[in-house]
Amino acid sequence: MDSKPPQLSANIFHDRPTFSCIHCCVPIALQDELISKSFTGREGRGFLMNSAVNVKMGKKEDRPLMTGVHTVADVFCLGCTNRVGWYYHKAADSSQKYKEGKYLLERERLVKENAWKLDESEEY
Ligand SMILES: [Zn+2]
Repeated sequence: MDSKPPQLSANIFHDRPTFSCIHCCVPIALQDELISKSFTGREGRGFLMNSAVNVKMGKKEDRPLMTGVHTVADVFCLGCTNRVGWYYHKAADSSQKYKEGKYLLERERLVKENAWKLDESEEY
């Protein structure tokens, strides 16, 4: 593994649609990496994402979630250090294993940039 501290990179996605931090507008994830919008975060709805950037991980902990106990680590925006969601290290239940290595990002902490035309009917 790479031991360098994560670097903030503001322009890595160029003009591709992204979810960005609501506080500092740093890009957090590509909209293409979205797996599901029907997840629940701590503060409301959440997005399950294949990958995220410009985030740093907090401490690993076992957390009881709606779908059972998961080993997760909170993830924080590199730009402003606000928490934006968590990372799934491990799921206890085998039916939840697909989440391992994925990110749950809080919808309330993100803004959608370069919105898809097809999404205009959605509420955000
Ligand atoms: Zn931020």
